[in-house]
Formats: sequence, structure tokens, C-alpha cells
Amino acid sequence: LLELDRKHLIHPVANYRDHEKKGVTLLASGKGAYLTDSNGHELLDAFSGLWCVNVGYGQQSVVDAATAQMNRLPYATGYFGFGSEPAVELAAKLVEYAPASLQHVYFTLGGSDAVDSAIRFITYYYNAIGQPDRKQFIALSRGYHGSSTIGSGLTALPVFHKNFNMPGAYQHHIPSPYAYRSDVGHDPAALIQRSVQSLKDKVAELGADKVAAFFCEPIQGSGGVIVPPVGWLKAMQLACRELGILFVVDEVITGFGRTGPLFACEAEDVQPDLMTVAKGLTAGYAPMGAVLMSDAVYTAIADGAASGTPVGHGHTYSAHPVSAAVGLEVLRLYHEGGLLANGVALEPVFSGGLKDLLAHPLVGDARSRGLLGALELVADKSSKRQFDPSLKLHERISTAAYAEGLVFRAFGDNILGFAPALCYTADDFALLFTRLRKVLDTVLAQP
Ligand code: PMP
Repeated sequence: LLELDRKHLIHPVANYRDHEKKGVTLLASGKGAYLTDSNGHELLDAFSGLWCVNVGYGQQSVVDAATAQMNRLPYATGYFGFGSEPAVELAAKLVEYAPASLQHVYFTLGGSDAVDSAIRFITYYYNAIGQPDRKQFIALSRGYHGSSTIGSGLTALPVFHKNFNMPGAYQHHIPSPYAYRSDVGHDPAALIQRSVQSLKDKVAELGADKVAAFFCEPIQGSGGVIVPPVGWLKAMQLACRELGILFVVDEVITGFGRTGPLFACEAEDVQPDLMTVAKGLTAGYAPMGAVLMSDAVYTAIADGAASGTPVGHGHTYSAHPVSAAVGLEVLRLYHEGGLLANGVALEPVFSGGLKDLLAHPLVGDARSRGLLGALELVADKSSKRQFDPSLKLHERISTAAYAEGLVFRAFGDNILGFAPALCYTADDFALLFTRLRKVLDTVLAQP
């Protein structure tokens, strides 16, 4: 299998030639927070797969919900006036739990097409209300909004963004509220003011009647777990209202208990015009994402469609009944199953464990909210100097982590990302930090 994988399966994020040499670790099974690979090596997953398996592995009730739905009805198209019971129920539940501003749901297969759909719906919306020139989209540097051809333009990570500007429209970025490396430091008011002013300046530069929307993650995930100060998200919402542009919150990572409440927006009573979700919606047991939108946006699009501005958009697997049945059971686990409450109860253990590691010689910063966190490794703590990339420290860390039986994400700039499942116990956290300390010590001892 490893040989066939090297020959035939593309792993795009990896360095292709490195991948061909090293191959992959084939995962064979999982239970709770633990994975076993095909060599029988046990791994504690501190990243929930790819920030998605929020309920942990081996949740039998989710498997049962999927199986029952597959037996009853595996597929229903949303075209030709059809639908399915679990999809309707899931849409209603999402609207019940989401910020009150959001009333309508379009289901996708994952996060990238949720972002992509949001951009397309926004474009239809502005056409419908007679403002077709609003084609400029603003997002944050270090942001990640998926790999679709349009959405990857909002993604600010250079390797994704390069060569993919949205055809006929444009994406722009303002600085990330990255406290650790900001010249205004950790001062919350200054960081918020900086972002609000940057957004206003960018809108003024592009033309007040040319900008469609501002997209942001409440906490930037793939950009290195950048945690803005409390109040930042609300301030961005208010700035968008003042500027007359749509405010879109991408909760693909932060949704479904990752930061404590079901959605990060809840913590600050943030009311976006659109919101994208995926990952924890089905917690990895089936693919699904969604874009939620306000009644004002939906009504304008629907009225436009009725009066000559038709909408061309749809996916074969939108609102897939099996994914929807999985989503319903996963939502039940977050609430009635006590997983949200467990995540909130154990948050201090997680943030405390990360903060304790600030004493380690390699660790320059420790940051988290809920069960989403990061350590930033630096070559020199006082100057915050980064390690020479030629050391490939992140690769050494991943190798040591595998040997210790720990999975997390080591980003290229030596930020280590953590997203443990909401089913973690205090013992799981103790093991995570014991193993993590060993990983850091191993790497520190290397020449
Ligand atoms: N938005 C955000 C904030 C994400 O983190 C991701 C995935 N990491 C996406 C969108 C894209 O989601 P997917 O990989 O499911 O297409």
C-alpha cells in the first residue's frame, strides 16, 4: 500500500519529492482521542484529525445514525423540488443555534465550497440590489479560507494565493491582529483600533461603493492560531456596518465548540451577515459544510431570482442525507452528550498546560481560546528571532512527535497548532503535555 500510495495518491500540501521518499503513515483505527497506525503504533491525536474530529473517534451513535440513513435513503437531490428529512432538520437546528442574524442555510461538501458559495451568493446579492460594481473582497493576512479557485484568493497564505486572483473581481488583505509579532504588542485596544482603521483605509482606497464584503476567521487557524483580543470580532462587525459592506465570519475551524461556545460569534454576541461552517459540523464522520445567511441577503437574492436575476449555483451532494443525519447526531453529542460542557470545563487544563511550557527554552509564545491553541517556537526569546528555515525544525518536531506517540500540527514557521477533541479527559491532557515536553526536549538536544 505504501508503494502504491507513493505512485498514485497525490498529497498536495506535502513536498512532492519528499513525500515520494518518505511516504505516509497509514492510520488504521481510532477510539476517543487515540489513533493506531498500520504498524500498531498508538498516537494521541491533539489535532482532531485536521481540526475536525471534535467528538473523537469511534462514536457509535454517529455510526448508527449514518448507517440507518444509508439504509433508509442514501441520496436525495436538492434539485427538481426534492429534499430529505435530515437535511431540513439539520438546517433548522443550525439556524436555532447560530447567531440570530442568520436564517437560511445552503449545504456544501466542506469549507472551501462553503466560502466559494458565500462569495457567489454575495455577488448575486449585489446584482439583485442594483450594485453590481461591488466586487472587491477584503480579508486578513495569515487568513485561510479554503482551496477553491475563488476562495483561495481570500486565503492569504502566499503559496495558496499566488496566481489565483478571482476572475473579474479582486481580493485584498489587511494586517492580521497578530499580538505576538505586532508593533503595538498585546494591547487589546490598540490591536482592535489597528484592524478597524486598516479596514476603513482599505475601503477608502478601493472605493466605498466598490467593496462587497470583509471575510475573517474569529481566530485564524491555518495562519498559525492567531487569537485576536476579546472585542475584536464585534468591532469588525460594527466597522463593516458603518462602511456598508457585508460582514462574513468563517467559522470552519472555530465552530462546534472549538473555542468554547458552539460558535465563536456567540461569545461576543456577533451577528454576521453570512457565516461559513464545516469540519466540526459532521466531525469528520462524513463530508459537509454550509453557508448561513441573513434574511436580508436571502430575500434580496430570492426576489432578484424571481424578477430576472437568476442564480446559477448547486452541488450534486449539497444537503446530503447521510451527512445531515451525521450532523444531527454530532450536534446532539455537543449538547445533550455533554461535549461542549466538557470542553469548557477542561479549557483551563489545556491553556494552563500551554502556558507552563513558556518556561521551556524553545517556546516564545503560548496562546489559546477554548480548545484551540498554539506554541510559537523561537531561536531567541527576547528578540523573537525565528529559527533558520534550513534547520527544518518543523520536520524534526513532527518526527519526534510521531516517535513519542503524539499528533499535532507543526507549521513551517515553527508554530505548533493544537486542537484536541472535546471528548478529552484530564488524563488525556496530562499525557499530551508529558509527551509534548519530551518532543520539545528531544528537539532541543539535537545539534
Ligand atoms: N475556512 C477555514 C477557516 C478553514 O480552516 C478551512 C480548512 N482548513 C477551510 C475554510 C476550507 O475547508 P475544507 O478544507 O473543508 O474545504
